[in-house]
Parts: sequence; structure tokens; C-alpha cells
Amino acid sequence: MNHRPISLLPDVLISQIAAGEVVDRPASVVKELLENALDAGASEITIRIDGGGIQRICIQDNGKGIPKDELELAVMRHATSKIQSLNELECVMSLGFRGEALASIASVSQFTLSSYPAGQESAYSISNQSGSWLVEPSPSSPGTTVDVQSLYFSTPARRKFLKTEQTEFFHCLDVVKRMALANPSVTWLVYRDGKLQSRFQESSWSARVFSILEPMANGASKPIEVQAADMQLHGAVGLPDAARGKGDMQFFYVNGRFVKDKLINHAVRSAYEDVLHGDKFPAFVLFLNLPANEVDVNVHPAKTEVRFRNARAVHQWVRQSIQACLAPSRAVVPLSESPASAQVVESPASGNSNVWRSSSGSTSAVQVQPKSAALPFLREELADYIQAYRPLEPPPRPTQIIAQPKAVYAEPAQHPAEDTDYLGQAIAQVHGIYILALRPDGMVVVDMHAAHERVLYEQFKNALDNQQTISSQELLVPLLVQIDPRLASEVDNGQHLWEKLGFRLSLISTQEIAVRAVPTMLAGQDLSALLQQWLEDLHQYGVAHVLERQRNEWLAGLACHTAVRANRKLTVPEMNALLRSMERTERSDQCNHGRPTWRHFSLSEMDKWFLRGQ
Ligand code: ADP
Ligand code: MG
Repeated sequence: MNHRPISLLPDVLISQIAAGEVVDRPASVVKELLENALDAGASEITIRIDGGGIQRICIQDNGKGIPKDELELAVMRHATSKIQSLNELECVMSLGFRGEALASIASVSQFTLSSYPAGQESAYSISNQSGSWLVEPSPSSPGTTVDVQSLYFSTPARRKFLKTEQTEFFHCLDVVKRMALANPSVTWLVYRDGKLQSRFQESSWSARVFSILEPMANGASKPIEVQAADMQLHGAVGLPDAARGKGDMQFFYVNGRFVKDKLINHAVRSAYEDVLHGDKFPAFVLFLNLPANEVDVNVHPAKTEVRFRNARAVHQWVRQSIQACLAPSRAVVPLSESPASAQVVESPASGNSNVWRSSSGSTSAVQVQPKSAALPFLREELADYIQAYRPLEPPPRPTQIIAQPKAVYAEPAQHPAEDTDYLGQAIAQVHGIYILALRPDGMVVVDMHAAHERVLYEQFKNALDNQQTISSQELLVPLLVQIDPRLASEVDNGQHLWEKLGFRLSLISTQEIAVRAVPTMLAGQDLSALLQQWLEDLHQYGVAHVLERQRNEWLAGLACHTAVRANRKLTVPEMNALLRSMERTERSDQCNHGRPTWRHFSLSEMDKWFLRGQ
């Protein structure tokens, strides 16, 4: 082959190559331009998208603008006002910092940027005209407008990868929603082919979340706000019952930046493991804030991935915080509450009693940090949501009319009905499967096996937490298991874990372990695949996660076998005992497989069935 000398690439080509990563589709152009508008402090942003964004994307903001003599720099590669040194990169809080978005976008489109910064006598625009830049006066309102037309006209290969205009438009809209969820104090207007498509008016955070993610409204989600040392997690998590068939309502932000991160996804997913049914996807909008130098945001050109300095700690803390938020059952009446403080149930913020708590001692939930100007998301906006949040209407204080429910078939209640008995008084067993209970305001139907299974499971977990070990059986002949040499160090690192789970194992070489004792309930099973998987998980997520997950899996199996089976006749006192223990059990709204354990039917709902009073 002929020798071709090495030569530097022309500038535009470099930008076009970068564009392949930074702005691979119209939605990423929208994302970059919106990040710029937010970094410029805009409070109102108008987005116009024509022809799926391929024809035109025009974004207008009322932010601080760009002075005339900086316009040419703004569209140059590696030119930014956001960082100046490696030091600043390591603690960057702005959304942008790479200084390549405008250059990349301009290299693959017909591009005009007009800006009118405060203090300048008029507006100026810069546009790319046949290979060079033209700066000229332009009529423009205060702020910046970026007009991107004929996207990828110069790179037709890229254009071939785009989907239909409809699909591309909805990707653009998704980007706007992500940004709008994190910035409720900004007003957003989206026009599609000239028509107003969506408008998100400046609002409280809860109003913003419920307007964009309707299925999270009406008690289907719970607020969360926890803080440990220098990490803070807040937002809303969907209840397991409200989980979805697809992962379309999962929003996670790190220091205000929307990210799709494997580690985080895994942490959230495993927080729901114990309460989520089958292949359901939980809904959540969560904001994790931590010092900028604890997280590397410069991992990917599109800045949607991050790397945490202490990944395992973040994983564990996020998982435990969400778990703790989900743990209290709606039926739980906190045991520790004295009758006087039980009135707290009536107060609007009562559903929030869990918010500051965490399931294990390893998390210290402490007071809120003073508001930091650097955090793009304002805590006060969340506070509003927390004030308004109520998990389920508590049973009303009995009044003359509904205090003595006239249940024709009711056996006399075994003890006087108390209005703190959230799940009411059992009156009958239905078809050997359900318990029917009366509440002053209606009735409750409980799936008896599912409920009992959860109660037992939680009891087993507690018992084990206190006793600390699982019974184990020595093997006469040690079992030899091949392992990936990459994971060899985890065998020693995990000694504490093995012991707790009832294993005794040691490393023979870098690729073989000897198993000398196994948990009794696993005796006789092929354990090599299981152990390999644990070592892998241990490597990625740390001991706490593996320990809890494996242990819980076994205990769930045990609970399922032990719980009352269908058709076992229960006496009324037995049924009431089950209801009362549900009220004391965490996660008792779902069985171990994530199915609901009880339903409430209010009198007013029943009146509707029979068209009473209509
Ligand atoms: P980056 O955002 O990484 O700095 P960009 O190429 O996106 O790089 O933008 C380059 C520079 O142009 C920014 O640093 C900022 O100073 C300026 N800029 C871009 N968009 C806007 C805007 N909408 N309002 C004000 N300044 C802007
Ligand atoms: Mg930018």
C-alpha cells in the first residue's frame, strides 16, 4: 500500500468527529443547548422543534447572554467560560465544561446564535456562512437564542441513523422533561412544528413532578430526604404498587445532572428487590448531591455517566436510604407512639415520619445542611411536597353513625374496636383465601397467605439480625470450586460474609477455592455457580449488598413454606392477630414477591358501586 503521511485534521472535521459523540441525534442537541441556557441562569426557556429537530431546533433563553466580542470564542472548540484549570474541572458544578457543544453543533448544521447580554447597547448574532463566521447586529430580546437548522446536512451518514420525526421529537421532549423535573423554578415552553405542545410554568417541585409524571401523584409516591455526612439524597420514590411495566419513570440526578448510571440503577433496583413484583419497574425522581470532587463527571462526552470516588459507599447508602423509605407499611401504626403522639397520624406531615430515618445504623440521618447556592435543586421546593404528602387517609375518628358498623354477619369483636387498628376488625374468612375486616369508614380485604408470608419473613430477618448466624454444616470432603483469578482477592475480603451466611471457604490457588462448610439449607446443592456470582457481586457492590440479598432470598423461601396455606380455617382471633401483626410489620403492604397484601374499600367507593346518593 502507498504510504500516506500523517497530517493534522482540519478543524471542522475534528468538530464533526466530536459531533458523532456529543450530538448524535436532535435530542442531544437540545440537551446541550438547554444545559447552556441553565448555566446562563435562565428563568424562562422556549424550545421550538420542527420536523423532529432535523429541520430546526431553536432555543431561546433569558439568561445572562454572551458579549459581542466573545461570540466567536463561544463557537470555537475547547473554548469555555466554565472552567480554567484542572482544579476547577475537579469541582465543576456547571452542567457544561467541555467547551465543545456549540462547535460540534455548528459543524453539522446551519447555525445562528444571537445574544443580547445586559449592559450591551444591542444584540448581535454569529452564523456560519460557507465555511467562515459572520458577526452582525441582529434584532433580539435580552438573553440568547440558538437557531439550528438542517441538522446533519453536511454529514448524511449520520442522518441515516435517525428514526422518524415523531420518534426524534419525543426524544427531544424527554430531554426537556428531565431538565424541567430538576428545575421547577424555570418556566419551559415547547413548540412542535409551530404549535404549543407543552408548557411547564414555574412551580413548586411537587407540582412539577405531578404534572410531568402523573402516575406518581395521588399517594402513589413517597417523598424522601436523607443526609449522611456530605451526601444528600432527596426526591420521590414510587410505591411498589405503582410500579410500571417499563422503565419510563426513572430519573436520577447527580449534583443536578441527569445520569444513566449502572451502579446507581443497581442500587435503586435492589432497594426495591424485597417489595417489587416480577419484572416491574419502579418510578422515581431522585437527586443525589455530594461534593463535586467525590464524583467524576468527565467520563463520557455526553456527560450522562459519572464515576464515584467511593462507589460502594454510594451504592450502599442509596440502596439503604430508599429501602428505609419504602419499609413502613401504610398500615403500620408506629408502636413507639404514645396515645398523645398518636395524634401525629392526623397531621399533614405524618406520612413523613420515616423520611429522616434509615434502616441500619450505618447511615446517620442528620439535620439538613444549610441551603447551598451551588446545588441546582432547591430543598425548599421539596419541603412543600413533604408538607403535603399523606400516605393514606387514616380511618376517621368514629362518629355516631359509622362508629358501630352494622355488619350483619359479624361475630362479636373479640376486643373493642380501636381506631388505631388500621386494618379494622376481622369478621369473616372468604373462600379460604381472604380475610374480610371492617373499618369505621369501609372495609379491608386481606390476602391471608401473602400477608402471613410477609409477616414471617420480616420476623425471620429480625431474628437473624439479632442472632447473627445461619446454621451451617461441615463437609466431610471439601468441595473444590474454580473461580476467575480476577476475583481471588474477594475470597479473603469476604470472610465476614461467608461466616455470616454459614460458609467456610479458603483460597487454594488464584483460581480455586475449597468449601469446607455450607449453610444447612443449601447442603447437597451445586454451589459453584452461586459462589462465582457472589464473588462477582462482592467485587462490584460490596459485602453488605450480597449478604443481605442472599440471606433475604433464603428467608423468603422459608417464609413462603411456613405461611398459612389456602383453605386453612382461621378463627376470628387468629385473623385479628394477623391483622395486628401486619400493622407492626415493615413492608407489610406487599408479600415477598411484591404483590399487594391488602386493599381498602371505602364506604364512599361502595356507595358509588350502587349509585347511592346520585
Ligand atoms: P460549555 O458549555 O462546555 O462551556 P459550549 O460549547 O456549550 O461549551 O458553550 C461555549 C460557551 O458559550 C459557554 O462556556 C458559555 O460561556 C457560552 N454560552 C453558550 N450558550 C450560552 C447561553 N445560552 N447563554 C450564555 N452563554 C452561553
Ligand atoms: Mg455547553
